[in-house]
Amino acid sequence: MSILVMKFGGTSVANLDRIARAAKRVAVEVANGHKVIVIVSAMSGKTNELVGWVNETSPLYDAREYDAVVSSGENVTAGLMAMRLQEMDVAARSWQGWQVPLKTNDAHSSARIEEIPPENILAKFDEGMSVAVVAGFQGVSPEGRITTLGRGGSDTTAVAFAAAFNAVRCDIYTDVDGVYTTDPRICDKARKLDRIAFEEMLELASLGAKVLQTRSVELAMRYKVKLRVLSSFEEQSDEAGTLVCDEEDIMESNVVAGVAYSRDEAKMTLISVADRPGIAAAIFGPLSEAGVNVDMIVQNISEDGRTDMTFSCPTDQVARADEAMQKAQDAGDISYQELVSDKDVAKVSVVGIGMRSHAGVAAKMFDALSSEGVNIKVITTSEIKISVLIDRKYMELAVQALHDCFELEKAA
Ligand code: ASP
Ligand code: MG
Repeated sequence: MSILVMKFGGTSVANLDRIARAAKRVAVEVANGHKVIVIVSAMSGKTNELVGWVNETSPLYDAREYDAVVSSGENVTAGLMAMRLQEMDVAARSWQGWQVPLKTNDAHSSARIEEIPPENILAKFDEGMSVAVVAGFQGVSPEGRITTLGRGGSDTTAVAFAAAFNAVRCDIYTDVDGVYTTDPRICDKARKLDRIAFEEMLELASLGAKVLQTRSVELAMRYKVKLRVLSSFEEQSDEAGTLVCDEEDIMESNVVAGVAYSRDEAKMTLISVADRPGIAAAIFGPLSEAGVNVDMIVQNISEDGRTDMTFSCPTDQVARADEAMQKAQDAGDISYQELVSDKDVAKVSVVGIGMRSHAGVAAKMFDALSSEGVNIKVITTSEIKISVLIDRKYMELAVQALHDCFELEKAA
C-alpha cells in the first residue's frame, strides 16, 4: 500500500472554493494509486479568532478548555474536506485527533505526540476507503482530554503521520511555492531551493523562516520523512516546491544555503557582575524560570572580579528579563551595577551544511557586513550557522549584502 500524506495549511483551506481546489489535488493523488492521509489546518484566521475568544473569556484560562476551544477550527475543515471528496466520489471520511487516536502527553497547548497507532485508519483503507482526512494540530491526553500541539502544529501532525504510516512522502501545501534562500519580500534575488537538507531547514525554521513548524522538521529528520513544501495555488508538477531531505540526497549545494533573520531581538547587558563560579547559572536559571528565551550569550573577560554579561532575547521578553534579574539581585543571588537593554537590534544568520568543510565563511560574512558599514554587536556560531546581532535599521541591507556575497541567486 502506497500511502501519501498531504497537509493543507490555513490559506489553502481558507474558504469552500479553496477546499474544493485542495480536494481536487487529493483526488489526483488517489488516481495515481495512493491511499492519502490528508491533514488539515483550520481556515486561516480561525485559530487566532478562537484564541482571542479564550483570552476575552478567561485571561487565566484552564489550559484544557483552551485546547477544547482552539482545536475546533480543524474539526470544521476536516469534515468539509471529507464531504467535498465524497461529492467527487472519492471514498473519504474525517477523523478528529482522539478518534485516530493521536496520543499525546498532557502538556496542554504544547503537547508532544507519543504515539499514533495506525490500525484504525489502515483497517478503513483495507475496506476500500481512499482518503483519511485528519484534523491537524490536535490529539488526546492520557486522561482522555483534547490537547493541541502548539501554534503551527498541524505541520507536526502531518510529519508524525508520515512517520507512523511509513508514507512515501509528506507534502505540505502552503501559500508559498517552497523554501527560499532568503525572504523574497526583503531580497528580490531570493531563489527557491529545489532541495534543502533537514539540518539546514531546522536552523532556518528556528531562526524564524516561518514555512514549517520547527518541531515538524525535527521529527522529519529523526524519522527520515521525505518532506516537500509546495504551493496549493500553483500548477503541480514533480519539480514543484522544495524537497527537505537527507544531506546525502543532495548532490551539489552551495556552502551557504540561506540567510535568515529575526527582527524582534533585544540585546541585554548586565554591567559589572560579580564574577564567581556559578554566576552564569545564577543569571540564566532565573531567566529560564521566568520564561525568557535566551539566545546568544557573551561573557566578557573579567577585571578585578567583575565582568559584563550580554545576552539576547525576543523584544517582548525584555520586561520579564528585567524583573527576573531585579529579583535575583534583591535576593542576593547576583550583584550587578546596571542592566542595559537595546531593543533596536535584529539577528541575521547564514546557514549551510557546507560550512563544515569550508573555511572562511565567517570572514567572508564579516567582510561583506563591514563593506556596508554595518557594525556587528554580538556573534555566535555553530557547526552550520553563523549569527550576528546588528542594528535593526540595517537588517534588510545586511540580508541583501550576504545574499550577494555568497551568490545565493545562483544554484550550485
Ligand atoms: N490552526 C493552528 C494554528 O493556526 C495549527 C496550524 O494551522 O498548524 O496554529
Ligand atoms: Mg503553518
